[in-house]
Amino acid sequence: MENNYRIETKCIQSGWQPGCGEPRVLPIYQSTTFKYDDSDQMGRLFDLEAEGYFYTRLQNPTNDAVAAKITALEGGVAGMLTSSGQAANYYAVFNLCEAGDHILCSGTVYGGTFNLFGTTMKKQGIECTFINPDASYEELAGEFRPNTKAVFAETIANPSIVLLDIEKFARLAHDHGVPLIVDNTFATPVNCRPFEWGADIVTHSTTKYMDGHAMAVGGAVIDSGNFDWMAHADRFPGLTTPDESYHGITYAEKFGKGAYITKATAQLMRDLGSIPSPMNAFLLNIGLETLHLRMPRHCENAQKVAEFLDGHEKVAWVNYAGLAGNPYHALAEKYMPHGTCGVMAFGVKGGRESAVRFMDHLKLAAIVTHVADARTCILHPASHTHRQLTEEQLREAGVAPDLMRLSVGIENVEDIIDDLDQALRTI
Ligand SMILES: *Cc1c(COP(=O)(O)O)cnc(C)c1O
Repeated sequence: MENNYRIETKCIQSGWQPGCGEPRVLPIYQSTTFKYDDSDQMGRLFDLEAEGYFYTRLQNPTNDAVAAKITALEGGVAGMLTSSGQAANYYAVFNLCEAGDHILCSGTVYGGTFNLFGTTMKKQGIECTFINPDASYEELAGEFRPNTKAVFAETIANPSIVLLDIEKFARLAHDHGVPLIVDNTFATPVNCRPFEWGADIVTHSTTKYMDGHAMAVGGAVIDSGNFDWMAHADRFPGLTTPDESYHGITYAEKFGKGAYITKATAQLMRDLGSIPSPMNAFLLNIGLETLHLRMPRHCENAQKVAEFLDGHEKVAWVNYAGLAGNPYHALAEKYMPHGTCGVMAFGVKGGRESAVRFMDHLKLAAIVTHVADARTCILHPASHTHRQLTEEQLREAGVAPDLMRLSVGIENVEDIIDDLDQALRTI
């Protein structure tokens, strides 16, 4: 029955399921360890022969309840929380790759992901080709190599606000025998559920809308259970051959649709340990309980702000898929008919200098290295998040030097517009 609930109900009810006499609210299991009566019981847990908790680095009931809620929201079969969105994307890819492997990634992804795949994972021997997500199927198909293990992209790219043609990417990945991993941070499952369009694995920086209040950094990896690892056994030996570090278990045989997340927990979390604290998972859960209320308001406010900016004489350009003339408007109507998100990109006339002047005069909208929470905020990627990229890399990432990323909050929209207006007048 729970799986049939609509998304609004899942935001509130999924995850923690108290038994008779248990706390109504998700408890914070602030404990590193769990007690057993005899040695054999604990031994069976280590063998993955029995389910249960023994050490919070591997699993914790608070964290698991929140992972289960996000899994339900996305319509997946299994999920895990991580300590950050960065960790989620790293685990999602590294769970499939090893030195000598290759991935394809949209060139418009978040700057942190760009560095992770392009620089840090390269040092581990995993190569990444950054691709133009708007290129034709044929062009993109030409980028696959025999050692390509996954295709990665963002539903709505941060900060360029490029929308992904998820079906095109799913077909591309599946035609080449690899899964499509989609970072669904900006859309959230309230506005888009990539599994319904063929994506295999979804990741989140829960730091953004899911938390919604800028309280806790966190991430999540969710598996649809749809990718058949055994059908591509040679390509994914980590899932389809015995894991010597886990008593010779073959994940895809023993855990079926749960194989991918079980491997990520048993191997990657065991060895790398990027767990969220149970307290942070608890905070995330509070955020999730209102996600379905906040997202429509973010979108409604952003639409009005985008229209205001679009008609303003000091504004050079606005990129928000909700605007009728936007190149991604058709994709937005197809994949996100209830709205995309509250984040938009725009530039003011006079370029970089005007942008800085405008930002310094904002009163309500704060300059913060964050997006996608209840408060309106703004960032200049070329000066802030993306300052380590070269001019060419900026262009490839879809980040113009004058691009400002505006994250429209859930305040009264007239107050947001008044603030933008008075700052624009100073240019
Ligand atoms: C913020 C962000 C990340 C990184 O998440 P952290 O929680 O900051 O580690 C990854 N992907 C996208 C799309 C993001 O917006």
